[in-house]
Amino acid sequence: MNTSHPLNPGTALIELERVSRTYGSGDTALTVLHDIDLRIERGDMVAIVGASGSGKSTLMNILGCLDTPSAGTYRMAGIATDTLDPDGLARLRREHLGFVFQRYQLLNDLSALANVETPAVYAGIDPARRYRRAMHLLERLGLGDRASHRPTELSGGQQQRVSVARALMNGGQILLADEPTGALDSQSGKALMTLLHELHAQGHTIIIVTHDMEVAQHARRIIELRDGRVVSDRGGDWTSADAPTATSPSLPSLPATESQGLRHPSAALDRLLEAFRLAMRSAATHRLRSFLTMLGIIVGIASVACMVARGEGSRQTIMNHIRQFGTDTISLFPGRMAGDLHAGAIHTLSLADVRALQAQPYVDSVTPEVTNNETLRVADKAVTATVHGTGADYFRVHGIPIIAGRAFDASLVESASPVTVIDQKTQQTLFGADSPIGKVILVGNLPCHVIGVSGTNAMAFSPGSLGLYMPYSSVMSRMTGAYNLQSVTIRLADGVPSNAALAGISALIKRRHGTADFTTFSSDTFLKIATASNESFRIFISSIALISLIVGGIGVMNIMLVSVTERTHEIGIRMAVGARRSDIRNQFLIEAIWLCAIGGLIGVVLAIAIVRLFSNPHSHFYMVLSMNSIGVAFASAVWVGVVFGYFPARQAARLSPAEALIRE
Ligand code: ADP
Ligand code: MG
Repeated sequence: MNTSHPLNPGTALIELERVSRTYGSGDTALTVLHDIDLRIERGDMVAIVGASGSGKSTLMNILGCLDTPSAGTYRMAGIATDTLDPDGLARLRREHLGFVFQRYQLLNDLSALANVETPAVYAGIDPARRYRRAMHLLERLGLGDRASHRPTELSGGQQQRVSVARALMNGGQILLADEPTGALDSQSGKALMTLLHELHAQGHTIIIVTHDMEVAQHARRIIELRDGRVVSDRGGDWTSADAPTATSPSLPSLPATESQGLRHPSAALDRLLEAFRLAMRSAATHRLRSFLTMLGIIVGIASVACMVARGEGSRQTIMNHIRQFGTDTISLFPGRMAGDLHAGAIHTLSLADVRALQAQPYVDSVTPEVTNNETLRVADKAVTATVHGTGADYFRVHGIPIIAGRAFDASLVESASPVTVIDQKTQQTLFGADSPIGKVILVGNLPCHVIGVSGTNAMAFSPGSLGLYMPYSSVMSRMTGAYNLQSVTIRLADGVPSNAALAGISALIKRRHGTADFTTFSSDTFLKIATASNESFRIFISSIALISLIVGGIGVMNIMLVSVTERTHEIGIRMAVGARRSDIRNQFLIEAIWLCAIGGLIGVVLAIAIVRLFSNPHSHFYMVLSMNSIGVAFASAVWVGVVFGYFPARQAARLSPAEALIRE
């Protein structure tokens, strides 16, 4: 019997001074521990006994830094724990404390080996070292062949030994066992007590909570609690005969931990990887749920990307128009305003106007677009076709492909050459399978050389009709028919102010027609209107995108809150073995970001598929998905993950370890 516990004059390992613990507040406040004074020396083996509800577990949680006293101070090796923040307490647990719980508290998703390794992950021990040590501990505890088994594949006694190995992983200088034999059969219980004795003999300080006096008798000192007060403190039946024999192989010595300066260099990365693995596993266990959550993000990101693509498409369409007109050009259209219903019927804008414009000193060149129907004749065939008199840029500007031969260039336009590019339908009608290039056709009365065949574009003339293109100059100088002007594009001479030229042109045509039956359009004003409407479109896009992302984000936040609730117990276990708040937070943050990133990726792929449907630059709904917008869409997805994952992750990180542990 050992009944004397001389208190060392120096610092005790554990020192409680008037420690109280009250649950709740106000009328419902329940004080479970009352002014506990307690000292436990290094290397002692102490049993805390008492009836159920006497406050044993509450005291144990305080000793284990899983819970904090409501009043009084707790010093561990001289360090006042109330001066430590949650991460400081986590560090004490990680480096000095080891827990053995009645219900083992193993992580069921992990193998025995991974369970044992967990505290070392958070301590920053390098993977090779922690594997060796975990295997060594498991072998020493007779579980070498069970390392890869899940807890559910192990007996209670085996699970409890896994939890002892985990408690010893980082050293386990102080082992706290709350009803460690409570769930074990008597034989396993005895074996566990022998193991604890052995560890005691090797220098571990051991504190056992039990309601079983037989178990308590193993200790050198028995502290009895009743209604939250220490009612007795005496020696147990412990004798040196209970000490393990010297033949039993000793457990491995303490590993180096971060306090000993032996953290491996990439420890932080290692912890991040652990958080990543956990996040992956969580997302993988709930595939359907993850997918449904992602759906919001997928739709959000796809719509963001599509709208950005549409914005880019309309911008390019506008830029094309501007390129068509040039930067110092003015256009004239028949009709009082753009889109005048009677524009087609107004024929007052004439080739004579074009010639008058050409004579103006501030005009560099005038390019009309003229049309008329003429009869085409080749050998014995005669058909009616629409003749388009155009400039050399026409094919490029309107995206009309040349499928054989070539288009006319600026020099052919300048020389008013009698050449023509016929469309495919005309070619088939007049020449059948023969190549028309180099042949001559009679357009009206003018013999023209065919130099090319054009394909069609979306905005080409009506399906049934035939058409051909000629330099407008050839039409003007060589044809006699009544040609209508679709438009006149005037390029200004260098250095002429566009406003003055516009006024001059308007005055000239008005004088010639006697009325303002035309519309002028300068690329300047066009640019202004286009950019202004593009800007408001951009704001519209942004707000729709923002709303869809927020809706997606709320879905993610919702599911992450569920995930935190589901995993509260796991969080408790991880905190007990020393996980920092940041470790827990990262685990959930990464899960949220992962969900969003994958959702974003699928959304981008979806957007690419949609945009491909609208990739014709000449359609009215042209979309362009640039690498830039893909990047923006994906970055927004990640951003949503961070923003909406942060709150649930913080919630998880702020859980109290003691409270998290009791939740199932
Ligand atoms: P023991 O482990 O000795 O059986 P506990 O320390 O678990 O006792 O509980 C002591 C008392 O504190 C019990 O009356 C219990 O109902 C109460 N208690 C324990 N935990 C909480 C809690 N989180 N909130 C409120 N009351 C609690
Ligand atoms: Mg208890």
